[in-house]
Amino acid sequence: MGEFDLIERFFKRPAPKTDSAHAANSPPWVGIGDDCAVLPLRPHTQLAVSSDMLVEGTHFFPNTNPRRLGHKALAVNLSDLAACGARPLAFTLALSLPEVSEHWLSDFSSGLFELADAHHCPLIGGDTTRGPLNLCITVLGELDVVNGKAQTLLRSGAQVGDDIYVSGQLGDARWALMVLQGQLGLPAALGEPHLGPPTQDSLLFAAAQLRLEQPTPRVALGLALRGIAHAAIDVSDGLVGDLHHLLQASSAQLKPQELLGASLNTEAALGLMAAAHALPQDLALSCVLSGGDDYELLFTAPPSARAAVQAAAVSSHTPVTSIGTVEATPGLRLLDAQGQALGGADKFKSFDHFSSQLA
Ligand code: ADP
Ligand code: MG
Repeated sequence: MGEFDLIERFFKRPAPKTDSAHAANSPPWVGIGDDCAVLPLRPHTQLAVSSDMLVEGTHFFPNTNPRRLGHKALAVNLSDLAACGARPLAFTLALSLPEVSEHWLSDFSSGLFELADAHHCPLIGGDTTRGPLNLCITVLGELDVVNGKAQTLLRSGAQVGDDIYVSGQLGDARWALMVLQGQLGLPAALGEPHLGPPTQDSLLFAAAQLRLEQPTPRVALGLALRGIAHAAIDVSDGLVGDLHHLLQASSAQLKPQELLGASLNTEAALGLMAAAHALPQDLALSCVLSGGDDYELLFTAPPSARAAVQAAAVSSHTPVTSIGTVEATPGLRLLDAQGQALGGADKFKSFDHFSSQLA
């Protein structure tokens, strides 16, 4: 199968209709098949653009289920749109393939389009070439501009006293990765999956593996948080590292020398990991704090917005948990459920980012 047959068969679909999301009288889209894709932009909007590349061996195992891989390649990109409060518009796919496997392509494109359809986000172009397996997606999103002001969530708006929130679950993806990499033992029942009914451990692991391989981009929550959250980022590198990025960007808006810090309630954070109770506490905490691959939204909002944050969580069908506070003292303080400093915090390697400032 040649490049063009491959595109035709697995990636080209009818051009999206100019539907209610776009002005009814705008010109039609140009999708796959011409030199450029062309899409109309609505007035009073800005374009949000983000790219993420997944490389075999670096970002996923060689034998990863292609359907899940198709989902994840798009999900990690949609997660960036979510963190900005952008509405997905369309995406492109640059694909490097070592060989043409129809079975693989069929599963990959099914996983990809299932998520794309759920977000009304059509594939409008890309590139296909032979080479090591490598998937690069660029997403385009739409940001509303109201009264000359873009309704964009940025990393840079956090203020002293803000509550720190995170959506969904944290840490399970890292646990699954450690097991799949052989760094940790498999839950006992997993070695023999066909013997008897699944155990609690094997179910926990299967769910964690899904978190790793098929993350849920929190697009609806990002949209619902516009005008409520002061700052937002998606958790791709780990809670502590990404919180550090958010605080750094926010500090840069303050007077020189002013640096924001934070305290985190480790009890609340541990509650976000489904498998936490099945693991030693230090291991669970390091998965939650320094894991990665979570693709949840981490955001801050003032205490006066607590009811609005809960309403956004409800309207977007996304759980949201308050896990800490933005403070005027630089550094990160880990607290136990009673608000006391947690001992031994510096043993988590993720704290590299904060290490020079650990309180
Ligand atoms: P060009 O050489 O002009 O860049 P190509 O021959 O690479 O165009 O691609 C032909 C058409 O197919 C273009 O519209 C391109 O956007 C689209 N395309 C190529 N690869 C993909 C892909 N993996 N997914 C979606 N569209 C693709
Ligand atoms: Mg080309």
